[in-house]
Amino acid sequence: MNVLVINCGSSSLKYQLIDSVSERVLAKGLCERIGIEGSRIVYQPAGGEKRTTESPMPTHKQAIQLVLDSLVNPEDGVIQSLDEVGAVGHRVVHGGEKYASSVLLTDEVLEAVEECNDLAPLHNPANLIGIRACQELMPDTPMVGVFDTAFHQTMPQKAFMYGLPYEYYEKYKIRKYGFHGTSHSFVSKRTAQFLGRDIKDMKIIVCHLGNGASISAVDKGASIDTTMGMTPLEGLVMGTRSGDLDPSIIEFLMHKENLDIEGAMKVLNKESGVYGLSGLSSDFRDLETAAENGNERAILARAVFNYRAAKFIGSYIAAMNGVDAIVFTAGLGENDSLVRKDICSYFGYMGIALDDEANKVRGEEKVISTADSKIPVLVIPTNEELAIARETMEIVSDK
Ligand code: AMP
Repeated sequence: MNVLVINCGSSSLKYQLIDSVSERVLAKGLCERIGIEGSRIVYQPAGGEKRTTESPMPTHKQAIQLVLDSLVNPEDGVIQSLDEVGAVGHRVVHGGEKYASSVLLTDEVLEAVEECNDLAPLHNPANLIGIRACQELMPDTPMVGVFDTAFHQTMPQKAFMYGLPYEYYEKYKIRKYGFHGTSHSFVSKRTAQFLGRDIKDMKIIVCHLGNGASISAVDKGASIDTTMGMTPLEGLVMGTRSGDLDPSIIEFLMHKENLDIEGAMKVLNKESGVYGLSGLSSDFRDLETAAENGNERAILARAVFNYRAAKFIGSYIAAMNGVDAIVFTAGLGENDSLVRKDICSYFGYMGIALDDEANKVRGEEKVISTADSKIPVLVIPTNEELAIARETMEIVSDK
């Protein structure tokens, strides 16, 4: 069966059609600038040319229609008819406390997801628009929601509660939820498999380091803590997000810079992180080039990022009372040997050592620690689309 994986944002939409048996990607691409002038669709069939077509897409429904048209296009389509799409798997950012696993998207589920809009106002409404548009265009095809938060629902209460009046948890569900769950789940499972071990016997720390970044502690296959919180702003210093800071800074900054709350949140979400620190770029490739040329602020931004990551890894070793593997994934984790080396250098006292040659790896599964390193350190590329396709298949076959 083929599964269409949809990741719908407010003005963009990424898609992949995956053969669930061979797990091959049959076609993939994205629609950009939905609802904005100059919208275009990028479509790439497996082994074929990538083609970009400018086409008006005033709504997500039109964007999805163009995706479906591309998939069945007689020239470079990969299926004969839409009957060959057995199910659609949708990435949904926030499932609140209700969804600890993926679920078939019924009207009742969609209502519950809508109730989570408050918790993820930038993401969930867009996810829902994508789901509803797909339902209209493929009314007989089962749709599955795969939540970014679901994997972290196993966190114990001591890990997910904030030190706030308890009533705010009861009234508003203010708590840590965590994100990138599909990635943390996929990568931790694959790590155990790759090492030939049973995940039920392992304590794994997954470092998902990309433009958005989070680290999680996975004990016996279950997430017991993670760095992102009620929203993706908490935790690590990221591309443009500040991560953890003293909450009083917000009030201080609002007074000093004459900002309203939207302005302050824009600073924390879009103008901070390594971008804000360096004043240069949110992309580590740019920071590395600048650092090589002696740019002090680029060097500082990288050091702050790495130090924060190392502190969280250290705290999760304490949380799990040990660790059996540390894994790097996502754009930066999979590609940046300097970041990996610097972060791991904080754990020399524990007998963790990287093999410089092995650590040159980019985007490939590999153990990057030395043979006598006390704990193996690995690179395991994440594949959220494949994880969503697998989850979708599981739900649809159980039906
Ligand atoms: P992601 O959000 O997972 O797509 O990761 C994006 C980030 O990964 C970029 O902003 C870069 O900082 C980093 N990245 C991607 N590719 C490389 C690379 N080849 N070398 C270093 N950093 C990279």
